[in-house]
Amino acid sequence: MCKHILNAQVAIRAPCCKQWFDCAECHVESAQNSETPHQIKQTMEMVFACKKCKKVFRKDMETFEEADEFCPHCDNHFVLEAVEPKARLEVEGEDVRKDSRMLKDDRVKAKEQMSIWDDEGEAARLG
Ligand SMILES: [Zn+2]
Ligand SMILES: [Zn+2]
Ligand SMILES: [Zn+2]
Repeated sequence: MCKHILNAQVAIRAPCCKQWFDCAECHVESAQNSETPHQIKQTMEMVFACKKCKKVFRKDMETFEEADEFCPHCDNHFVLEAVEPKARLEVEGEDVRKDSRMLKDDRVKAKEQMSIWDDEGEAARLG
């Protein structure tokens, strides 16, 4: 588990620096802070470590298919849609509440405006 992908089921071994990372983003951060900043090396043969059974396995990304989304040792489904940190969800929730408040305020404002603005004024504003 890392701060980028909360439901990471596997660790990946970066072929460039031979270190284990939970996601490519972790590699970016680690590589940036290292003495030899670099991009992750793209490879057709990825090495994974299952977080459930702790076993290591390789996958050929060129021939990766649906059946390869499971750990060959324990059948753990490791290709999942990433669950990103909760903060984002909380912000979304706040936004909804803000939105509903805003909608209410807008309706009140609209009513006030209608009593203030006559038809001509409203038309001029819209035009
Ligand atoms: Zn690397
Ligand atoms: Zn990460
Ligand atoms: Zn496994």
